[in-house]
Amino acid sequence: MKIEKVGIVGAGTMGNGIAQACAVSGIQVVMVDISDAAVSKGIATIAGSLERLIKKEKLSVADRDAAMARIQGSTRYEDLASAQLVIEAATENYDLKVKIVKQIDALVGPDVIIASNTSSISITKLAAVTGRADRFIGMHFFNPVPMMALVEIIRGLQTSDATHGAVHALAQNLGKSPITVKNAPGFVVNRILVPMINEAFFVLAEGLATPEDIDAGMKLGCNQPIGPLALADMIGLDVCLAVMDVYLQEFGDSKYRPCPLLKEMVAAGRLGRKSGQGVYFY
Ligand code: NAD
Repeated sequence: MKIEKVGIVGAGTMGNGIAQACAVSGIQVVMVDISDAAVSKGIATIAGSLERLIKKEKLSVADRDAAMARIQGSTRYEDLASAQLVIEAATENYDLKVKIVKQIDALVGPDVIIASNTSSISITKLAAVTGRADRFIGMHFFNPVPMMALVEIIRGLQTSDATHGAVHALAQNLGKSPITVKNAPGFVVNRILVPMINEAFFVLAEGLATPEDIDAGMKLGCNQPIGPLALADMIGLDVCLAVMDVYLQEFGDSKYRPCPLLKEMVAAGRLGRKSGQGVYFY
């Protein structure tokens, strides 16, 4: 199945980024959120982002206008019915996502594929609350969506080859480089990235090096664009801790135990850039 129209639920950071990536690639988009204000904010964010691309001479005015014309904002789930794929990109909350995917499942035709952009919720579990587990899949985009090449495509236990093929082709049409992953906590990238950050906190706690030297070591020695401690400050120490807690619980393996120093910093309210202080001061 060729996907020519995509429905997106959630017009926030990820939803509007996905909408932009689709519209610029010639795909029709309907983007649904709960309020007119949220929809307008999402569309304004896309307009601002495209304007910056024009200034950098990466997009023409005509292509911007064509892309914007492909995006329909709405607060009505009924408007999703004309899409071949609906991507759920609403707030990360299990009960909310269950409610939303059930709503979409009841509304759209039997051939429509439903995808979730969740970072942490089981795709197999979400698929199971719909009547179309074979046409349910994970599409994990990275932030900021228009810039980041990767999409992790997550196959739930019952995702069909046809569903995977259609979504994989769409990701390529968006100019992305998809990788295919079986459903498991953290998928691939966050499964490797967050324990690495946690290990950097152990190295810091053991006094092996200063934060600056730990970050410099990983930048210079592994060609990482940003050191793990500075990255933790960007992601939020609370988010890193929550992810480690999920791995520890889901895998039942002590190798995922969160570093006590990470826990201490979160307890102290040192959450990173967003609180003005994490490993570093801002
Ligand atoms: P966000 O808070 O920026 O946006 C969420 C949007 O969902 C909001 O506009 C909200 O109004 C809307 N929403 C809430 N309930 C809704 C409903 N019932 N129907 C329609 N819309 C509803 O969040 P985000 O950062 O865009 O994250 C969205 C999803 O993407 C989450 O599952 C998150 O885990 C995942 N994700 C986020 C990132 C990231 O870096 N932000 C990266 C990858 C994946």
